[in-house]
Amino acid sequence: MDVLTKEQRSYCMSRIRKTDTTPELAVRRIVHRLGYRFRLYRRDLPGCPDIVLPRHRKVIFVHGCWWHRHNCQLGRRSPKSRRQYWLPKLQANKERYKRDRRALQRQGWKVLTIWECQTKKPEKIIGRITDFLE
Ligand SMILES: [Zn+2]
Repeated sequence: MDVLTKEQRSYCMSRIRKTDTTPELAVRRIVHRLGYRFRLYRRDLPGCPDIVLPRHRKVIFVHGCWWHRHNCQLGRRSPKSRRQYWLPKLQANKERYKRDRRALQRQGWKVLTIWECQTKKPEKIIGRITDFLE
């Protein structure tokens, strides 16, 4: 059954194309080390989550700060060029994620968001990930 709209699907594909980024690998390593098995980029789920633990019904998103307008230094940085193109696009990323997260929660999934800037200090997110997965 195809539960994704066309727009969601192309978003999913664009995510898959930028797989294996450093922040994602950092989070995957932590989850792996905690002894959990997971799947990557389930295309049939809203937002195409980075890490999926089907048996626990939990998903983890690893967000690039700039792409999702995180409230941190990197996330607040303005596009250097083509602002009129980028700003609405970045805002749309943020809105889409809110919708996807709500849709997942309605389907009974628990959702954790990890930001790129947080993955630079893995020791700071291990606790959150452990709590989330327990
Ligand atoms: Zn950030």
